[in-house]
Amino acid sequence: MAPGKGEGSGEGRGLRGKGEGCEGWVRARSCEGRRGGEAGDEAQGWALGQAEGTPPRAAPSAALCFLAAWRSLRERGPKDGGGPRGLARRIQGTRPFSLSAAARAILGLGGWGDDGGKKQLTLQDVAKLIRKKECRRIVVMAGAGISTPSGIPDFRSPGSGLYSNLEQYDIPYPEAIFELTYFFVNPKPFFTLAKELYPGNYRPNYAHYFLRLLHDKGILLRLYTQNIDGLERAAGIPPDRMVEAHGTFATATCTVCRRKFPGEDFRGDVMADKVPHCRVCTGIVKPDIVFFGEELPQRFFLHLTDFPMADLLFVIGTSLEVEPFASLAGAVRSSVPRVLINRDLVGPFAWQQRYNDIAQLGDVVGGVEKLVELLDWNEEMQALIQKEKEKLDAKDK
Ligand SMILES: [Zn+2]
Repeated sequence: MAPGKGEGSGEGRGLRGKGEGCEGWVRARSCEGRRGGEAGDEAQGWALGQAEGTPPRAAPSAALCFLAAWRSLRERGPKDGGGPRGLARRIQGTRPFSLSAAARAILGLGGWGDDGGKKQLTLQDVAKLIRKKECRRIVVMAGAGISTPSGIPDFRSPGSGLYSNLEQYDIPYPEAIFELTYFFVNPKPFFTLAKELYPGNYRPNYAHYFLRLLHDKGILLRLYTQNIDGLERAAGIPPDRMVEAHGTFATATCTVCRRKFPGEDFRGDVMADKVPHCRVCTGIVKPDIVFFGEELPQRFFLHLTDFPMADLLFVIGTSLEVEPFASLAGAVRSSVPRVLINRDLVGPFAWQQRYNDIAQLGDVVGGVEKLVELLDWNEEMQALIQKEKEKLDAKDK
C-alpha cells in the first residue's frame, strides 16, 4: 500500500483480483466512505499531527493512515459494517460532533469561530490578505458543487440524475458502476457515464475560471478536486497544478497490458457506445477514473507537502464527506485561514471550527462572485471568461 515507484497510479492493483479485496475495503472506506467513522478520525488526527508539527514526514506515513483505516475495519469486521455496505448504513448516525456553533452560543462558549477572543476573520479580510500578497500559496479543495452550475448531473446519488439513466442496464446496485469486478463483467454502464462526462460535453463556469485566475496570478499552489468531469482542465488549469483525486477521463490505461493512452484516442468509440479496446493487445481500455478498490493517484500524496506549506485554504462546493479527501481540510497549519464557499456548513467548519475559519454559505457561484468583488477582480474575470468562451466556441465549430 505504501506508495512506491513503479506502482503506477494504482489502477493495476485491482486487476490482481482477490488478494486486494482488503485494500478495496480500505479504499471504499477511506476514499468513498463518508466522514464519521473511526478510520476517518484517525486519518484526520494523523493529518493534523502532520500539519501542526514540524516538517512533513515522508510518504510512507501516508500508508499508516490507510493501515489505521484497515485495522479499524478488521476490528469491526465486514458483517459489523466494515465493508462499503455497512459503511453506507453507518453514515447516518455517527458523525463526530463537538458542540455546534448554535450550541456554543447558547452555552455562552462564544459564537461561530470564536477562539479565545481572537478576532474573527471575514471574507473581506481574506480578500485583503490576497491583495496585499500576504497569501500566495493557496490550496483549493473542490467538489461537485463547483460543477453543478455547469449542468453536470449529480450521478453519485441513487435515484437522481445519471443513475436513473442506467436503469436500462439493470445494474445490481448503483455503486457497481465504479467496481472493477463488475466492470469486467459488464463495462457498458461505466461507458455510459464516460460518454456523458467525456471532455467537451460541458463547459467550465465562473467558479472554475476563478481558480484559473488564481493560477494565472501565480498564487494557486494546488487544486485538489474530487470531480471527474475534467472542467478544471477545460478551464485551462494545467494538470500539474492539480490533484484529480478521483481520476480523470483525460488519460486511459489498457486493463491488460497497462499501456497508457490519451483519453481523446477513444472519444469516437465512447461516443458510438462502443467499449474501447487496446490497439496493441485488444484488452479493454479503461479511462483513469479511480474505482472502488483502487488506490488514489500517486499525486494525491502531494498533500503531504502542499498542505503544511499552504497559507490559505479554500474549500469550495464539497460536503467534505468523502475520505481521505475530507480530512485534508484539517491538514493546514492552525494559523492558516480556511474559507468555505458552500451551500451548507460542513466538515470541520461545523464541528471543529477555528477563529480564522470563514463560511460563505449559499449558492457557490454567488459566493465566488462576492469574493471576486471584494478582490476587485471583476474586470479580469470577465476578460478571462470572454477569452475562454471564444476559444471553446471556435473548438465547437
Ligand atoms: Zn493493451
